[in-house]
Amino acid sequence: MKIKADYANAPQWKNLTIKSRLPEQLKCLDELAHNMWWAWTYEARNLFKSLDEDLYEKVGHNPVLLLDRLGYDRKEAIVNDKAIMKNVKEVYAKFRAYMDVEPDKNRPSVAYFSMEYGLNQVLKIYSGGLGMLAGDYLKEASDSNVNLCGVGFLYRFGYFTQSLSMDGQQIAKYDAQNFNSLPIERVLDENGNQVVVDVPYLNYQVHALVWQVNVGRIKLYLLDTDNDMNSEFDKPITHSLYGGDWENRLKQEILLGIGGMLMLKKLGITKDVYHCNEGHAALCNLQRLCDYVDGGMSFNQAMELVRASSLYTVHTPVPAGHDYFDEALFGKYMGGYPGRLGISWDEFIGMGRQNPDDHNERFCMSIFACNTCQEVNGVSKLHGWVSQKMFAPIWAGYFPEENHVGYVTNGVHFPTWTATEWRKVYDKYFDANFMNDQSNESIWHGIYNVADEEIWKTRMELKEKLIKFIRNKFTQQWLRNQGDPAKVVSILERINPNALMIGFCRRFATYKRAHLLFTDLDRLEKIVNDPEHPVLFFFSGKAHPADGAGQGLIKRIFEISRMPQFLGKIIFLEDYDMQLARRLVSGVDIWMNTPTRPLEASGTSGEKAEMNGVVNLSVLDGWWVEGYREGAGWALPQERTYQNQGYQDQLDAATIYTLLENEIIPLYYNKGKKGYSEKWVKVIKNSIATIAPHYTMKRQLDDYFDKFYIKEANRFKKLSANDNRLAKEIALWKEAVAERWDSIRVVDKDVKMLVEGGETGVNYTLKYVIDEQGLDDAIGLELVTLRPETDGSDREVYSVHEFKMVGHEGNNYHFELTYEPDHAGSFRSCVRMFPKNANLPHRQDFCYVKWLD
Ligand SMILES: *Cc1c(COP(=O)(O)O)cnc(C)c1O
Repeated sequence: MKIKADYANAPQWKNLTIKSRLPEQLKCLDELAHNMWWAWTYEARNLFKSLDEDLYEKVGHNPVLLLDRLGYDRKEAIVNDKAIMKNVKEVYAKFRAYMDVEPDKNRPSVAYFSMEYGLNQVLKIYSGGLGMLAGDYLKEASDSNVNLCGVGFLYRFGYFTQSLSMDGQQIAKYDAQNFNSLPIERVLDENGNQVVVDVPYLNYQVHALVWQVNVGRIKLYLLDTDNDMNSEFDKPITHSLYGGDWENRLKQEILLGIGGMLMLKKLGITKDVYHCNEGHAALCNLQRLCDYVDGGMSFNQAMELVRASSLYTVHTPVPAGHDYFDEALFGKYMGGYPGRLGISWDEFIGMGRQNPDDHNERFCMSIFACNTCQEVNGVSKLHGWVSQKMFAPIWAGYFPEENHVGYVTNGVHFPTWTATEWRKVYDKYFDANFMNDQSNESIWHGIYNVADEEIWKTRMELKEKLIKFIRNKFTQQWLRNQGDPAKVVSILERINPNALMIGFCRRFATYKRAHLLFTDLDRLEKIVNDPEHPVLFFFSGKAHPADGAGQGLIKRIFEISRMPQFLGKIIFLEDYDMQLARRLVSGVDIWMNTPTRPLEASGTSGEKAEMNGVVNLSVLDGWWVEGYREGAGWALPQERTYQNQGYQDQLDAATIYTLLENEIIPLYYNKGKKGYSEKWVKVIKNSIATIAPHYTMKRQLDDYFDKFYIKEANRFKKLSANDNRLAKEIALWKEAVAERWDSIRVVDKDVKMLVEGGETGVNYTLKYVIDEQGLDDAIGLELVTLRPETDGSDREVYSVHEFKMVGHEGNNYHFELTYEPDHAGSFRSCVRMFPKNANLPHRQDFCYVKWLD
């Protein structure tokens, strides 16, 4: 026998976690570190920082990692440091006082589903605005003591970190997160094992581990498929945010919706309302339908209950931005559901189609959400209207302005986004009850009692803090990646805290028009290089790795920033994340936003700026349409002048240059002997007093309760009482109406006025007799009149007058409308018949319409 050259088996490596032991007196720090409360409580962050400042920086302000890395000697020293230990006690006491409050039982409970959550930069489970909104929402739910839980994913890689190459090319890097060093916990079952949810994917199961993030009093549950129970094809489901192909996206949405519901079931959690933050989670309604059907209800009955208790918030203003799945792919994973629900495949996939009978349409998750959620909302007033129009084709028979799609304008979590310096000012001058009454403008008017000097000093402190932050963060990185040390150093040296600083920081999608400022480089050069009145622009933001045009924009801005005339005047800051955002929204003087109307659904970074005395200069789009007040910021007009986007861009750019040259720069530099501009401080005060109060997350959360949650929870309670009696009744009634709908007919009518026309000031009576085919007073009629068409644009409803049912003999129901035209002109009118039942929440809930002759 020949002896082998080497002979060894493969080691079975065990995942072994060794945790750093904390002395008894510091154990409470571990609890503090594992609750994201610190992310919006500066006293807690300062405490962690005080344990070891250098280390705190090194671990990226992550308290869990900080505690893990604290050396033995340092721990000893801390325990013996009276001042620190006193602070530990105080902060922990504050935390306990915060936590030991019972959830509010008077308001409905909510399960909130979202693909991403922006809670803090150390937990990379967010990419941008949508995540920020969800994270802020959970924090405010905690502060407002609401009974709410979140459902999402624990991503192994999350979204990418961004750096730029020497020539401005975006480099996307995906770093694996080490779950043991994050402020998260395993959710354990009664035997001490981590809870696993088994999620069906047609003919096999995916197994997801369950984690938990403590967001103050709120629990956020995260699913994680990156484990050895799953095949190589399924581990990546929770690898990255908005990565992968359509198949992976569908698998993600199955996990979020269906897996999310199964997880809640396994944890024994039920809530009154199920809220889909964007359409990604809409399949939660599919699982809920299955649960009711498994419990013995018919599909139609189940649908009543599911719809009544779910809300869909749409964030995407263009139809192309929504998720569409090919029938074949959709069938590959969803083929088993129609059988479970007792409906056909066509009926099932039809729930995701605008026209359910059109076999060429792909399955659209947003349409499925609209069809399975009683209520739908956009995220600003303007976006509500855009969404009404976008979804109008789902509800044929009604005009966009008639459908039930509503809105709640986005807000931001005040304690997260307000710089500590400002919080101290507010604490000093605002009513003590401020945090519970954040939308009360009269409290914010307290800002007028603050001396101008103090406002200015606060602003200057934050400008300097931003510059210091930039020097710390970017010097090494730029020297490494961007060559020419002399240039890098000169950029950093040239950042002038006395310059008027303008920030433009957001995702680089082309509709946000980051290029607008660079339409006329000569003019821009004059603006930034005025020696008396220097101006400085910061740009920051990531482009999706698949978005070539967005990356092209970044490259262009980077190139401009390296031109000698713009060096240190136009600065691109890589890797826009929550930490950089916090510094920027509080550190610049002006926050600029130039989206293509009306594509900015809301935008929230400008709202963060408001809380920090940073003034907005923005296109009247999204939240700014509502937010703008004269004397408290600047607005580019809402109306389009040109259909041609190129012309419109040029016009908007010229408007920005002119505003800067003629108004903004002179105002900012109108400094008296005091060294600051009183008029500028006035603008700051106006914007804090009159705009900021309306854009807090507290206002947003309260709006969701007032507009949707309470209404839905009440209706669901009615529907589900007495073994779901009303839900069953409504389903039966709808079935009866649907069955007879086509045979319901006009027996007699008197509509002479509609044929011959009439005069203002004269009363006309219209009459119909309708054979309801055995239904008992189940329909309504209304006269719909459209506005005279003026410029060929879409027709709008001018008036709707409902007929009175005045009596019936047998199946024949008599309807009358007495009507007096109030305006002369040439209108178009028609009579609309609809199913009528006081138990329906709105017309689109049962969208049968017949226009009568
Ligand atoms: C606030 C924020 C956003 C969203 O800002 P928009 O104004 O909606 O573009 C995106 N990313 C980060 C890091 C943020 O802090």
